Amino acid sequence: MVWQERVYLDYAATTPVDERVIKAILPYFSPNFGNPSSVHFEGQQAEAALEEARERIAQALGAKPREIIFTSGGTESDNLAVRGLALAERKRRGATRILITPVEHHAVSATAHQLEDVYGFKVEYIPVDSHGQVDPDDLRALINADTALVSVIYANNEIGTINPIAEIAKICCEKNVPFHTDAVQAVAHLSLDVESLGVTALSLGAHKFYGPKGVGALYLRRGTSIVPTQTGGAQENGLRAGTENIPLIVGMAEALSLVLEDLDRESERLRTLRDRLIEGVLESIPRARLTGHPTQRLPNHASFAFEHVDANLLLMHLDHEGFACSSGSACKTGNPEPSEVLQAIGLTPQWAMGGLRVTLGRGTSQDHIERFLEVLPQVVEKCRVINRVS
Ligand SMILES: *Cc1c(COP(=O)(O)O)cnc(C)c1O
Repeated sequence: MVWQERVYLDYAATTPVDERVIKAILPYFSPNFGNPSSVHFEGQQAEAALEEARERIAQALGAKPREIIFTSGGTESDNLAVRGLALAERKRRGATRILITPVEHHAVSATAHQLEDVYGFKVEYIPVDSHGQVDPDDLRALINADTALVSVIYANNEIGTINPIAEIAKICCEKNVPFHTDAVQAVAHLSLDVESLGVTALSLGAHKFYGPKGVGALYLRRGTSIVPTQTGGAQENGLRAGTENIPLIVGMAEALSLVLEDLDRESERLRTLRDRLIEGVLESIPRARLTGHPTQRLPNHASFAFEHVDANLLLMHLDHEGFACSSGSACKTGNPEPSEVLQAIGLTPQWAMGGLRVTLGRGTSQDHIERFLEVLPQVVEKCRVINRVS
């Protein structure tokens, strides 16, 4: 195999940690290693760093510091929001219905299903259209006094579609139902102002915006009842027990500041590259289609389906050619089933087996896109031929 430069096109799966973030993190392993719950100087130093990080993140979201709960990542934030809000609403007013969409990340959908299997809730779906988008009128028709919680993903990880979060939040607010959104994919690209969005709870995870893995946050509107899902000490206002991971929390705050500093310019740059990529793929490859919304999608996100192509085979060939892409969500790697999300937006299994997600980021150049467009048509053709023979 000829050695070649790797081209990483999977920024929706994870991003490299910004050098400046690494620099901000290191002192909090040592010498500033204190436990923020300790009374002494070392502890107070750690607490100061923790509270500064909380303030920075709150400010970025237009929230109050007390509304930020640190967690171990996007998954835990989703778990805390969905399980914690559903249990609190049942305790408070006996509500037992959970409304989600068929295109949620598994961190939301599997939590909702556990609440159904083990805790006696009922999960119902707000439909999505062929772009994977919610129509707020459908929610209006479904929501009622027995609804404990609504959770709708802000920007879809697999197909990039952006949902009308502010409109959805308004309906939930009128009905006094808490509304959570998984904003993990949105952070690096979209507005996160929790007041204009009007959400009750919002999840983020640092490794999707050039921060470290294993750390995230949940925004929770002041005055909202929630049942903590991790119990123990009184950290995080009693809502998430366990000694806070100060180095990673400091890193997340730094990463968020850095990404917001450059958000408009970088989104514009990525949107141009993305549009060139989409146009190139649809022009050069037969039986190919864009999945997700044509315009209301993440600026760094292109996703396609190819008829009669095995996505895993496609990814292996692309990898061999030096390109790191995904079939959809990273969590589904190795799963030969047709994508649930692609089926939910109406693709037949022959199409839903052939999903390709190409997500761009800071390291992506025009040259990368042109090289990708040179290679992809042959690779898709190869995967179709192999399909036909077997
Ligand atoms: C990555 C991701 C998650 C999970 O976040 P982790 O920090 O990896 O646990 C949840 N939701 C969405 C939409 C994601 O893209």
